[in-house]
Amino acid sequence: MAPKTPPSDAVKQIHYLAAALKAPRITEAAARLADQARDAGWTHEDYLAAVLEREVSARNASGAAQRIRWAGFPARKTLDDFDWDQQPAARQQVTALASGAFLTEARNVVLLGPPGTGKTHLATALGVTAAHHGHRVMFATAVDWVARLTEAHRHGKLPAELARLRRYGLIIIDEVGYLPFEQDAANLVFQLVSSRYEHASLILTSNLPFSSWGGVFGDQAVAAAMIDRIVHHADVLTLKGASYRLRNRGIDTLPSVRAGIDQPEA
Ligand code: ADP
Ligand code: MG
Repeated sequence: MAPKTPPSDAVKQIHYLAAALKAPRITEAAARLADQARDAGWTHEDYLAAVLEREVSARNASGAAQRIRWAGFPARKTLDDFDWDQQPAARQQVTALASGAFLTEARNVVLLGPPGTGKTHLATALGVTAAHHGHRVMFATAVDWVARLTEAHRHGKLPAELARLRRYGLIIIDEVGYLPFEQDAANLVFQLVSSRYEHASLILTSNLPFSSWGGVFGDQAVAAAMIDRIVHHADVLTLKGASYRLRNRGIDTLPSVRAGIDQPEA
């Protein structure tokens, strides 16, 4: 039977080599898995694969945690804490999106629906899954995106900023339509959408149907051109029902915005 403890020279060498590779977890995994490998009679290949797998999954996990921290989500939300009984029609589509395939295909997702129906929740949860799939993610409201792009434009750095943002696999634009945009702002959002078209994904959320976006962007032509690019390769999900925030509070409907969304589209 093979000795239980390997020669200590080899262990020292593993320490040294793992440090040189900047993979310190290998030292720990190598020792622990070596015992397991001897007991279970693993091949050399099985053992090496197991050690490397630990390092890779640890790196992926810490990378994802970092991407999630940097994404700027307003709150931590996941698909696991979404109550599908409230939105049964969206379940299948959202679950399919969570595979992350839409990101590699640079497809978009549009979440429409009245306030409190889970648009921001689902956009965040899909952003979290994107981070786990290895994509960089940035979340902000439409108003915040406009502020950021206006700032870049003022310093003559809009093209550089748009190029930088293209390195993010996913950009989330939350709350399109809560506030109307000035013409300049609408053009900046249009440029953001154009620069990502067929390159990288967007998720947009809005309480307004597409037919009302002309009013938001102050210009039917800009809105139409933008919607055209967004929707060309997109999943559009319409969430329905009363606000989750108001459930069990005896309030059935919210004013105006619900009326807007319930109106049949022209
Ligand atoms: P919206 O962006 O559509 O206005 P949010 O996603 O912000 O709505 O949802 C409002 C609150 O209700 C959030 O705290 C969210 O996590 C929660 N929420 C909404 N829908 C659901 C749901 N189906 N299951 C669990 N929580 C939900
Ligand atoms: Mg929201």
